[in-house]
Amino acid sequence: MHFFSVPSTIQRLISSCTWRKEGQGKVIFLTFDDGPHPEITPWVMDLLAPHQIKATFFCVGENLSKYPDVAKKLLTNGHRIGNHTMHHIKGWRNRNSDYMMDIENCENEIQKIQLQLDQEAEEVKQHDAGTEIINVQSNIAGPKTTSKRENRKLFRPPYGQIKPSQIKLTKSMGYEVVQWSDLSCDYDKHLDCGQSLSALVKNAKPGSIVVFHDSEKAENQLKQILPKYLEAMMAAGFTFETL
Ligand SMILES: [Zn+2]
Repeated sequence: MHFFSVPSTIQRLISSCTWRKEGQGKVIFLTFDDGPHPEITPWVMDLLAPHQIKATFFCVGENLSKYPDVAKKLLTNGHRIGNHTMHHIKGWRNRNSDYMMDIENCENEIQKIQLQLDQEAEEVKQHDAGTEIINVQSNIAGPKTTSKRENRKLFRPPYGQIKPSQIKLTKSMGYEVVQWSDLSCDYDKHLDCGQSLSALVKNAKPGSIVVFHDSEKAENQLKQILPKYLEAMMAAGFTFETL
């Protein structure tokens, strides 16, 4: 038995989390959890690129530290990266202090990636200018890839499991806690992909937040479902945005 959507009663009950984002027109928010992965994440990017589709990737810190170049490519291609803890841990099973520490460690990895990108952009700028004078003004403004990062940090709890006290703490650290309205269940190797696809298409509404996984466990299912899902959504007049 698979649950491809989250009942609105649950969404209302835990209203301190973001489950969907309405009011922006016929927009779907695609999210990919558990990456980056050296092959699957680029496969997703290649699939999205011809349609200029931008998505949000909730990355695991230890994967960011293993594959920083993939993460950099996500940002330079206009996608967003959100925090999915350092070690993909369950909120319900961890003390708040340990949970918050794991979130912070993941955040450090995200910031490392961003810092490297900023430095690379600065080097290019200096090279282009043919001068060694550091342009302080443009340094403050930062490159375009950073435009959203100061506004809102995004956090998605692994397995959707988070205690109310952890939601409170996470929000007090400036995070928006993002769950989802629609789940592909692509992580299940025994999934009926046709059933998942038709449920996703049927449940799609303006503002839906949809979860896929750029992980090895989900690869086969993801590759079967995602291309057809994008086609169906585009044919129905939906567009895609980052959170
Ligand atoms: Zn996850």
